[in-house]
Amino acid sequence: MIVKLLVIVGVIYVVYNLYFKTKIDNTQDKGEEVDTMVKCSNCGVYVAKSDAIVKSDKYYCSKECL
Ligand SMILES: [Zn+2]
Repeated sequence: MIVKLLVIVGVIYVVYNLYFKTKIDNTQDKGEEVDTMVKCSNCGVYVAKSDAIVKSDKYYCSKECL
């Protein structure tokens, strides 16, 4: 009975750790994306990578610069 309980607690602990670790990794990935600044290939303005428009492997700040 005690062994069963330990196994259940162990499984919950492992699952919880995996879930928590995945959550932290996701947060870090999002943070890097927001912090990354890329230069507009047309006007030279720096914009967040998530806001930039990508065309032919080059970054642009807005549609006007495409
Ligand atoms: Zn631009």
